[in-house]
Amino acid sequence: MRILVIEDEPRVSRTLVKGLEADHFAVDLAEDGEEGLQLATEIDYDAVLLDWNLPKLDGLTVLKKLRKSGSNTRVLLLSGRKEVSDRVLGLQSGADDYLVKPFSFEELLARVHALLRRPMELLDKLAVEDLELDRVRRSVTRGGKTINLTQREYSVLEYLMRNAGRAVTRTMVVEHVWNLGFEGLTNIVDVYINYLRQKVDHGYAKPLIHTARGVGYMLTGQDS
Ligand code: CA
Repeated sequence: MRILVIEDEPRVSRTLVKGLEADHFAVDLAEDGEEGLQLATEIDYDAVLLDWNLPKLDGLTVLKKLRKSGSNTRVLLLSGRKEVSDRVLGLQSGADDYLVKPFSFEELLARVHALLRRPMELLDKLAVEDLELDRVRRSVTRGGKTINLTQREYSVLEYLMRNAGRAVTRTMVVEHVWNLGFEGLTNIVDVYINYLRQKVDHGYAKPLIHTARGVGYMLTGQDS
C-alpha cells in the first residue's frame, strides 16, 4: 500500500518515512503544500499524512482542495494545535483522523492501520478459490500449502487479490506497489507477474492469474 507524507520538518518526515517503509508501505514525501496537493491529486494513495503548518499552502487548504477535487483518500492530519476547536475544524475540513504533535511513532502507526482497516474491502483475509492471503500474518497459502513470497511479490499479489475479478493495468500496479523513487518501466510488473505465476499457479490445475489482453492482468477463479 502506498502512503504520501506531506511534512516540511525534516526530523519528523525522516521518522515517518523510515518507520512506514519498515512497516512495508511504499512512501512518497512532499515538503510543501503545493507539491503535496499535486501528488495527492495525481496519485491514488491509500492514505495521506498531512501536516497542518506547511510552506506555500497550509494543510487545511490542501485538505479542502483535495476533497473538492473528489478524492476520498484517507487523510490523517498532524498538528501542534491541541485545542478541541482545532481538531473539530480539521475533521470538518475532511480529515479522517487528527493526531497532535509531538506524537509517538507507535501511535501514528496504529492510527494509520486503523484508517486503512476502515473500508469494507480491507479485510484481514482475502481469498480467491483456494488461494488465501492473510494480511495480519502476511502469509499466503494455496490449497492449504504455504507459498513463500518476497515483500514485493506479496504486495503485487495483495493488490491483484484486492481487485479480484477486475482487470488492473500495469500502471495501477506500479502506483500501488512502488513509490516515486521507482524510475523503471511498468514492464517490471510483467516480471513480477511471472514470478507470481511460478509460485501461485505453477503445478495447479486452475490458473488464477490471467492476462487481460490490451489492459493488464486479472486475478480470478473464472475461466477467461
Ligand atoms: Ca510544519
